[in-house]
Amino acid sequence: MNGRRDAGFLLGLQVVILFGHRTVNSVEPPNIISRSEWGARNATGPIKNLSVGPTPYVLIHHSDTGGCITQALCQAKIRLIQNYHINVRHWGDIGYNFLVGEDGNVYEGRGWDKHGAHSKFYNSKSIGICIVGNYTRREPNVAAVRATKQLIAYGASIDKISATYTLLGHKQTAPTLCPGDKLYELIKSWPHWSPTT
Ligand SMILES: [Zn+2]
Repeated sequence: MNGRRDAGFLLGLQVVILFGHRTVNSVEPPNIISRSEWGARNATGPIKNLSVGPTPYVLIHHSDTGGCITQALCQAKIRLIQNYHINVRHWGDIGYNFLVGEDGNVYEGRGWDKHGAHSKFYNSKSIGICIVGNYTRREPNVAAVRATKQLIAYGASIDKISATYTLLGHKQTAPTLCPGDKLYELIKSWPHWSPTT
């Protein structure tokens, strides 16, 4: 009898835990294309973990390349970016934690928890997100903007990004034109953007 009651109690506890879990993670994840799906190479060596978690910063970049509006084109473009970062820049892997295409997909770069190679003084304490394209004279399309915002909200909901994170454009952390004037103006209207680092 006691055993049955204990089992019933444990079952009830599991339901409470599941229910609580679902309540906390109410943010839908964006569609994240894994490294194996987009044909990533392996990193050339181990990648360090971020020095803090959940990370207090989110940095926005553009790739300063042509954009892409289909998964096939985005994957090809992201493989080129990875080759450039490994072969020419010698960063060991693609520098960003995630990339976003104008096809509306998010592409896994180094992923959550990993030290990036995208902005020297923030690599150890930020999630670097690169929207594929050049956004000097135009904004990314609605699909890319939606996917990027969803990725950030999802990251905060699973405790990979601090609830009180600061959103910055790359140019706020280094002398660069990245993420392009139009995208930079746009992110100023997003949640958690800060004029100061
Ligand atoms: Zn950048």
